[in-house]
Order: sequence, then structure tokens, then C-alpha cells
Amino acid sequence: MSSRALPRVLLAALVLVLVITAAVVALRSDTPTSRDAGVSGPSTTGAPPLTATASQNAVPPAASQAARKKAVQQLLDQWAVAVRSNDSALLATLFDTGADVGFPAAEARRAANLAQVPLADWGYDITEEAVPTVDPAVTARLGADEVWSPPVVLRYAIAGADAASTTRPVGVVLARRGQVWRLVSDTAADRYGRSTWRGLWDFGPVIARVVPQGVVLGHPSRAADLDLLAKELGPAVAAVTDFWGPGWQQRAAVFLPDHQDELRALVGPDFAEGEIAAVSIADNIDRSAGTVRGQRVVFNPATLSRLTPLSRRVVLRHELTHVAARAATSAQAPVWLAEGFADYVGYRASGVSLSDGAPAVAAVVRSAGPPDSLPVDTQFATTTSGAKVELAYQLSWSFAVFLAATRGEDALRGVYLAVAALPAPSTAEIDAAVQPVLGVSLGALLVEWGRWLQQALD
Ligand SMILES: [Zn+2]
Repeated sequence: MSSRALPRVLLAALVLVLVITAAVVALRSDTPTSRDAGVSGPSTTGAPPLTATASQNAVPPAASQAARKKAVQQLLDQWAVAVRSNDSALLATLFDTGADVGFPAAEARRAANLAQVPLADWGYDITEEAVPTVDPAVTARLGADEVWSPPVVLRYAIAGADAASTTRPVGVVLARRGQVWRLVSDTAADRYGRSTWRGLWDFGPVIARVVPQGVVLGHPSRAADLDLLAKELGPAVAAVTDFWGPGWQQRAAVFLPDHQDELRALVGPDFAEGEIAAVSIADNIDRSAGTVRGQRVVFNPATLSRLTPLSRRVVLRHELTHVAARAATSAQAPVWLAEGFADYVGYRASGVSLSDGAPAVAAVVRSAGPPDSLPVDTQFATTTSGAKVELAYQLSWSFAVFLAATRGEDALRGVYLAVAALPAPSTAEIDAAVQPVLGVSLGALLVEWGRWLQQALD
């Protein structure tokens, strides 16, 4: 049906975002604090030093380092309090006389924009990452006694959505005059690979729609859309729980940016284009502990107006399925599995028939016979043509529908759990995982799927 195309293409983003997240984790795996892997902030690993002549900013002895860190943390704590409580008077005292033009005003706007966001946590932490040395030219320009760019993360949690705080990178430059540290810039470290992450509140006032199943955040200009998403969130969480079971957070944070720059800041450049309707992201995934932090479903403002009530329902349930299954899903799980599974839940009980939901598959079956293999990951890439991506999604969905129709939904979940945990599995590895669940080889299953498609689409 006509509403089908949009949800499909959107959903490609999710797993691909996971791949990127995994790559960042891998890059940082040699550091003790590789915990804020993200999709939008660049890794600091491999960044050039802030200066080639570090002698002007010699590393102080350990005792001095500890004292410096303590003093700076106090400044960061005050900064967090001022922003979180929108205390403009306190905020105004925290900037160095040489602070970037516009930085104090931007922070004041940020604090005001944040005022209506329900926060369970908001703070800035110094991490143990390698510390770049500040360009001596910056020190000279400021005329300060000392200039430092410590590795800092924003630590925050949305009340009603996040079970634990997540972290995002902050590239901050600070100056000391006498004993007092103050803020200089949160953009000067960009060129050294440590950019400050920007949230919804950096782009304008944020309003919240709070429901028992989570929080929807966006801007006042999108109030009506926020209402629609909030209204859909409760039934969507219930639907995902009905299928997946209660073993997930059963709450979600849904973000609705207002324009593409904002979407890009939240989900990264690769997923802020084209027909994507929403992207599911996570800041931190620890599969060994089964924990995921900073999960957000981010809608694309460019395609939002094209969502029908049905496609909005499907998109949200699809994305929340990824959220629910994230901790059980390898970063390199087969895309056909993750997307077909999420689409199965998205379309479950929607009344959309196989032929209406998979017209491209029907066309292929009619013209070339049934498929004999599942789509490979590259068929879902944003660089692949829309029609091919659409076909890949439909094939994946039809395979999930086939499994549920012929083996039952428990078997579909069983296959998901067995295969999704495997990183980039080979066909033989998928076969070895599927056989114990279904008692049939993958090859025989694919033949059966083809015959089933022919009959079901006839
Ligand atoms: Zn998806």
C-alpha cells in the first residue's frame, strides 16, 4: 500500500548507526574510558595534539594535576548547576574575560531552552582520556596564568525515559587567573577532534510531552506533532512489550528536531538525508552487561508531514523494537534480521497484508521466481538506490512473516536471539544458529520460504 514505502526506507538507519557506534568503540578500545561511543561526536582517538610545541604548557606534577582537576571540577559543577537551573546570574560569573564572543550568550540561551526538559541528571565530568595540550597562541592571546582543555563529558538523563545517565563529549577550553578557573570556549577544541555534542536545546527552546511510557522532546513549532507522537508512544511501547516481552526498559525518549542541521547533529551526517523517517540511536552499548545508554528515537522533520497515522504507528513500533532488542543485538548482526524483525513488530496486527506490504517482492516473484537468498547488508546502505533498499526491506519483512506464520512467533524470536548475537556471521554460522531453533538447515528454510512466497503472493 502507498503508506509502505516511507517507513521502509527510514528504518535502514538503525542498524547502520549501530555499526558506526561499534566502530567508534573499537577505535577507543585501547583507552580506559571508551564509554561514550557516539554517532555524532568524533572520536578523540588519533586526534592531533593541540600544539606541536607543548613546552609552553608543561604538564604539572601529580599533586598539582590533582589540585587543578579538583578546582576545574568545581567550575564544571557550577556550570552544570547554572545551566540546569537556568540561573543566569550564576552563569554570568563563570566566563573568562577572554571568553569567545557569543559563548556566554549561547550558554544563557541553552539554559533557557533547557528549562522545560525533565532532567534526572545534568553534569560535566572530567574523564581519564588523554589530554591534548592547548595551542600556546591561545594561552598568549588570553594572557592567562594557565589554559587547559580537559577531556570532559556532559552527563545527563531524561527523567521518565532514561534508567541511567548517558554521556556526550564536550570540547571545552578553560583559563586560570590566580586561583580561579573560568570558561573560555566550547568550540575551540573542534579542530583537534573534540567537538561539543549539541542536543535539541542547542537549537531552540524545547518542550516536553511526558507520558507513562516515556518523553517526547521537540520545539514549540512542532507542538502538534509532539502531541501525535506522545499519543502513539504508549500503545507502541505496549505493542513491543507484547511481542518482545517485559525484558526491556519499556520507556523511551523520542526526539523531534526542527530542521536538517539539528537532525545531523543528533544522528550524524549519513542518516539526516533522503527518505529516512526516523533513526534509533544509542550512545553507549555494553552487551556483556546487557546495558544500553542514551537510546533515542529521532524523527526526521523533512519526512514527518508525510507520515500517515498507519506509517507513524509502524515507524515508532519498528524503532522501539530496535530499542528493546539493542542489548541482545550485535553491532554487526545481519541487517535483514534486525530490519525484518523490527518491521514484523511494526506491522504486526496492523492489517497490512503480505501483498500490500511487499509489492516489490511480489513483482520479483512474478517476473523472476522466488528469491533464494536473503539480502546482504550493502543492499540496505543509504548509498544504494531507494528501490533496491525497499526490496531489501520487503524481503526481510516477508522472511519474518514467513517464520512467524509457519513456525510461530516464539520461533521467530528464537531465531532472532540466536542469530542477532553473532557479529558479522557467515552463512555457515547463521545455519548453525538456526538449525537448533527450527530443526532445519538455512538452505532448506530458504527454499521453503520461496515456495511459501509463491503461494502467499499468488
Ligand atoms: Zn530499523
